[in-house]
Amino acid sequence: MELIKSNLHTHTTLSDGEHSVEENVETAIERGFVSLGISDHSYVDGDGDYTIGKGNEEKYVSEVRRVIKKYEGTFDLFCGAEVDYYSEIDRSLYDYIIGSVHTVKIEGQHRGVDWGGEYTQGIIRDFCGGDHVELCKMYYENVMEHAEKNKPDIMGHFDLVTKFHSFDEDERYYDVALGALREVMKHVKRFEVNTGAVAVNIRKDPYPSKILLAEILRLGGTVVLSADCHNRKHLGFGFEEAAKMLKEIGFTSIDRLTKQGFVSDPL
Ligand SMILES: [Zn+2]
Ligand SMILES: [Zn+2]
Repeated sequence: MELIKSNLHTHTTLSDGEHSVEENVETAIERGFVSLGISDHSYVDGDGDYTIGKGNEEKYVSEVRRVIKKYEGTFDLFCGAEVDYYSEIDRSLYDYIIGSVHTVKIEGQHRGVDWGGEYTQGIIRDFCGGDHVELCKMYYENVMEHAEKNKPDIMGHFDLVTKFHSFDEDERYYDVALGALREVMKHVKRFEVNTGAVAVNIRKDPYPSKILLAEILRLGGTVVLSADCHNRKHLGFGFEEAAKMLKEIGFTSIDRLTKQGFVSDPL
């Protein structure tokens, strides 16, 4: 079955992306997408460089809405946001939100779990007594609180903490991650399968890992495919492979946002 292509995780020049909203729409149309969602980073106090910036929420939304109007009737564009755990937003402004955790706050400072391998090792050494499980506990604590408090439409890159550090050899990791997943699923049932780090050669597989995806399926969760692209050339990157993987795990459908809400397309 031909994959119906859409992507709700798209960054533009309004935050840390390389192309404008319109440039992304043009590429989506060229590549046969049926819809696209813009999800720039909501402002994070103390860690705002990669976000839409302080006080810019209305400006951001009105720019995306301007482009939505421009393509009305010809292409479905949605106004979303990738909302960080440490963000405050006006939920009523958006068609959907992706809930993500990028940092843990230690001693009042943001420490990114996706800032690099050495940086991650540094957090584990300096703030976790050398035990990496302490880092993932902090990270998943934020993920669980985010899900409960903000109930995002989609949970973003669920296991981002594994970006630069492998926990695979440590079974304690999966106790923490699966425990967090079960808590999260009391509030949010939809997860993205995020190919962003695969597109830029940082990872071989999308987030979340297959073990987590299998548990999402077992607990009645659903998935969307997302490119998390910061450059329009990565729109749809790895979607076919990800769909194949999902099928192998046992998923039979993929969610897609329409003007009438989320629908599920058979895989
Ligand atoms: Zn993110
Ligand atoms: Zn993102």
